[in-house]
Amino acid sequence: MNDIIKFDNKLSIEKSGEGKRGFSFKKAAPKAGIPQGAARTTRPRLPELSEFDVVRHFTRLSKFNFSVDTHFYPLGSCTMKYNPKINEEVSSFDGFTHTHPLAMDACAQGTLEIIWDMEKRLCELCGMDAGTLWPVAGAHGEYTGILLAKKHFEELNRSRDVPSPVKNEEGTVPIHSDRVNRDEIIVPDSAHGTNPATASMAGFKTININSAPDGRIDLEVLKARITPKTAVIMLTVPNTLGIFESNIAKICEMAHANGSLVYMDGANFNALIGLVKPGELGVDIMHLNMHKTFSTPHGGGGPGAGGIMVKKALIPYLPAPRIEKKGGSFSVNEDLPLSIGRIKAWFTNTQVLLRAYAYLLMHGPKQLREIAENSIINANYIKSGLQDLFPPYSREYCMHECVLAPSKELTDKGIRTLDVAKRLLDYGYHAPTIYFPIIVHEAIMIEPTETESKETMDAFIAAMTKIHSEAQKDPEFVKKAPHTMPVKRLDEVEAARKPNIRW
Ligand SMILES: *Cc1c(COP(=O)(O)O)cnc(C)c1O
Repeated sequence: MNDIIKFDNKLSIEKSGEGKRGFSFKKAAPKAGIPQGAARTTRPRLPELSEFDVVRHFTRLSKFNFSVDTHFYPLGSCTMKYNPKINEEVSSFDGFTHTHPLAMDACAQGTLEIIWDMEKRLCELCGMDAGTLWPVAGAHGEYTGILLAKKHFEELNRSRDVPSPVKNEEGTVPIHSDRVNRDEIIVPDSAHGTNPATASMAGFKTININSAPDGRIDLEVLKARITPKTAVIMLTVPNTLGIFESNIAKICEMAHANGSLVYMDGANFNALIGLVKPGELGVDIMHLNMHKTFSTPHGGGGPGAGGIMVKKALIPYLPAPRIEKKGGSFSVNEDLPLSIGRIKAWFTNTQVLLRAYAYLLMHGPKQLREIAENSIINANYIKSGLQDLFPPYSREYCMHECVLAPSKELTDKGIRTLDVAKRLLDYGYHAPTIYFPIIVHEAIMIEPTETESKETMDAFIAAMTKIHSEAQKDPEFVKKAPHTMPVKRLDEVEAARKPNIRW
């Protein structure tokens, strides 16, 4: 990366030369109807470059990027694993890419069948009864799932309305009801940040509960917070500490005894696939992140797909439309009286689903289980390789990711997690997730994923070990890292508060 920066560090506008052209448009006559004063009289200040200049400029910039295809990318909770290239091949078949979103059912049988079949397979993997693949992100799945819960309680309340046998003075029939206003969702502090956000966006009050010292839900604390107002208990499994919620069946029992539902955030299902069927543990609603577990390129906010799955009682409320199979053909059904309606203008990010579907079919049941086993083995390998220098939150085995922090030798020298993360860039590693989960002071959250080799992980452990000793010998050097990147240490607070977005 060094060399590319050394030889050419100019902005495109600095490389601009008058009259250089990549493409020439025909001179157009001024458009009629543009109000006087609104028409531009000077040329826009854009760089003038040849096509070759543009290719070199952007190819060079693209080399500044860290990506899964170029670097180890241990970004905890994001599952930055290898995305098999065959997924790309499948999702770009003409039959899919040339299908109009409003095509008649008869012209989109293949796409409809895949979405239908994928839903069935995911339900089988999760032990759930039905689902929808319309949500376009994990958080969108959560929001959809919580809207289903809301609808479920609204319908229950409606069934409790009893018209009075006697008319009142105005001659209308008063309604008596023993409605229960369930407006609370319990979210533990080890949940992903999108969970409380989802609960509030869906109009619920978030009841935050603190975890027990082992990182699991404290059943006594939970018991005290479950009330007739509890609509949903929302769990992230494995939680953001990389720990399996081993009391989950008991928690589901407690919720159901109270008439509440259990939502499981299954975004990190790569740790559970083939090992655990959440439906069998009592989970009522859950989402999956196709872009994480089923390997489609993602990052920087998209693109994604986040299907949800539910138990039987919630099926009538699933979003519209639903794909149905009649005889040998597939059709889109919009006539769903109890559905919460559309959650997306039309179908989901179909191409993300296609990639995930290819990945799903590529693995048999045994291999799916190996995905989970390897994701767990890899995270524990990293954890045990680093735990003497970067103490983990918990000494017990973790699931697909481990949460570490700088040791006292480093914090005594004023070294923070941010410094370690920045120095990792110099060694050619994308930084892990840092300062998350927020319940761990100076957290470094590492998710190697199931696709990394022992050699890669050994090299990463060696780099972290080296950073640990550098930080003791020359803390100031580590505090100023990165030293080899196009931009060095930035004042991130200043950049966020006073962004300078003009050249
Ligand atoms: C990534 C993640 C989410 C959010 O998924 P998006 O697709 O980014 O909206 C939610 N929960 C957990 C546990 C996650 O890891």
